[in-house]
Amino acid sequence: MNENFYKQVTAQLEMRLKENEEKANRAAELVIANKELAYQSEEKADRAAELVIANKELAFQSGEKADRAAELIITNKELAYQSGENADRAAELIIAIKELAFQSKEKADRAAELIIANKELAFQNEEKGKRAAELVIANKELTYQNEEKCKRAAELIIANKELIIANKVQGEFIINISHELKTPLNVIFSTAQLFDMYCKNDSLAENRDSVIKYIDSIKHNSYRLCKLINNMVDLSKIEAGIFKLNLSNSNIVTVVEDIVMSVTSLIESKGLNIIFDTDVEEKIISCDTQKIERIVLNLISNAIKFSNEGDEIIVDIKDKKEFIEVSVKDNGIGIEDKYLDMIFDRFKQVDKSLSRNTEGTGVGLSIVKSIVELHGGSIYVESQIGKGSNFTVVLPSEKILNENMIYSDIVKSRNQNIRVELSDIYL
Ligand code: ADP
Repeated sequence: MNENFYKQVTAQLEMRLKENEEKANRAAELVIANKELAYQSEEKADRAAELVIANKELAFQSGEKADRAAELIITNKELAYQSGENADRAAELIIAIKELAFQSKEKADRAAELIIANKELAFQNEEKGKRAAELVIANKELTYQNEEKCKRAAELIIANKELIIANKVQGEFIINISHELKTPLNVIFSTAQLFDMYCKNDSLAENRDSVIKYIDSIKHNSYRLCKLINNMVDLSKIEAGIFKLNLSNSNIVTVVEDIVMSVTSLIESKGLNIIFDTDVEEKIISCDTQKIERIVLNLISNAIKFSNEGDEIIVDIKDKKEFIEVSVKDNGIGIEDKYLDMIFDRFKQVDKSLSRNTEGTGVGLSIVKSIVELHGGSIYVESQIGKGSNFTVVLPSEKILNENMIYSDIVKSRNQNIRVELSDIYL
């Protein structure tokens, strides 16, 4: 029994030892654990302190956050209000946008319509442009026509004035020509009455000398009538364009010289001198010799009419190769400058008061000019009042192939021609 007990007690002691050992181990471990815990506690305390600080910080942050939250709530409310406002505004904007969209569509429609209208307008404008261009052309045409009409009207006014003047001149001419016709007729008629009286009272023989003188006067006045009638006929022919030249190739020098020679004694009997001068002996040109004689006689007749006793008439021929110049120069009363252009016009006479005692109808020089021009020539005058005049006829030096010779006839009647052409002057 004891041994078992011992064994039991020993086992229990051993077990108690073991348990103590284990408890010591445990205590050592606990000390270590305690130390660890103490350290951890310290750490935790530190941590707690830190946490307190952190807590404070957090509390502070929380306060801040609460303030911020409160602010945010206000802001939120503000935002909510603004959102509400914005929503209203958005709704309004949506309506406005819809309105704008509608207006835009309207505008787009209007724009489309405007484009069409614009195209239409452009087309109309183009049409108007074309029409305007046409109108401009039509206007130009009308302006041109108007201008032409104005010109025509101006021409008609001038022509009318000319006609009135021509009618007046013609009227004066008829009065003048009637006087010119009546004067020689009266002389012839009075002479016939005188002769009748001589016959009736049988005094013809005793008045023989005056009868001879009166017969001369009848002849002279008959020549005057003849010249007048010739001039009238020629003038009418010239105006009608039927005045013809009998052209032949003749020596113009002898034609002019012969006619001067033929009138020399008649001129000298008027107390005047006539000189013939030429720088060429022979110059054959195509001319109507009878008409050339008339030209020269007419110019000589005028020179006599407007010269004073003792004056000199010079008939001069100058050969200018391409043409020939025949001039009749006097140192008589001369012509005023203002009349120089008009003396070649029909029926124009220089103021009667200046041209003293002269017979004439004012057609002589116009016929001369027409005849010269029919020969392809020209006539001009140089004159100085009180000093005399110089008429120059310029004829081309041309010959014709087919002559129309009637020269012999003229030679026969030259004397009578001279009488007729110089009938303005009492010889
Ligand atoms: P008329 O038959 O009246 O002489 P003309 O045509 O021969 O007509 O001449 C026209 C006018 O020219 C004359 O009336 C005269 O006034 C002027 N005249 C012509 N020749 C001369 C001249 N040699 N000297 C001065 N005047 C002249």
